[in-house]
Amino acid sequence: MQKYNCPSCSAEIVFQSRISATCVCPYCSSLVVRHDTELESIGKMAQLPEDISPFQIDTIGVYKGLAFRIIGRLKMAWQDGYWNEWFLYFDDAKKAWLAEAQGSLAIIFEEYLSPEEAKAKFGKAPKLNSKLLISGTTYTVSDLKESYCIGSEGELPFAAPRGRNVKGIDLIAGNSKFAGIEYCDGEPPSVFTGQYVEFDDLSFNHLRELEGWKMPSSKSKVKKA
Ligand SMILES: [Zn+2]
Repeated sequence: MQKYNCPSCSAEIVFQSRISATCVCPYCSSLVVRHDTELESIGKMAQLPEDISPFQIDTIGVYKGLAFRIIGRLKMAWQDGYWNEWFLYFDDAKKAWLAEAQGSLAIIFEEYLSPEEAKAKFGKAPKLNSKLLISGTTYTVSDLKESYCIGSEGELPFAAPRGRNVKGIDLIAGNSKFAGIEYCDGEPPSVFTGQYVEFDDLSFNHLRELEGWKMPSSKSKVKKA
């Protein structure tokens, strides 16, 4: 845990994760980037629109025996709606996300690839329904979409200003396996692998209280692989 002062309002900002690069100040909504010893403000983040997500910053859960905490959120929009990408803090400091879209949940981990390797293997975006080998598993491209960031809160591993454009590719394989490739403004592609998960399997705690709410079963959506 590291403490800083917000360059904009001087309030104390605490980074829980060593791998977080940015944070939205909870007091003044400045989007701040972490340098070695100080923070730089790169603008204001608009208030996130309300949604019906059961998750929030500080929701905790357990995945494959490892505890995690939600420490940040990216809210992404595309032509047909939006979804949340919750940034997870695991004790082993792997970069992981909980993707929450239309009642389906996936836990994904960033694959550690050098920029050269990422460009060589995944630089050319694959076509819909094509096959791709990632970390020993053959995936099928199930979706391609353009999206952009409409807001963020908490800690994130990169700066995600409003309007940041991402071209995303979803891939699926048997046993609920899920992978994603993201292309963003000429950066080397980012590759993620993981799986679809059931809400009840993650032992969530400190969820947001939503009156009359029940997580819809995502089983029917998972079986499409
Ligand atoms: Zn501030």
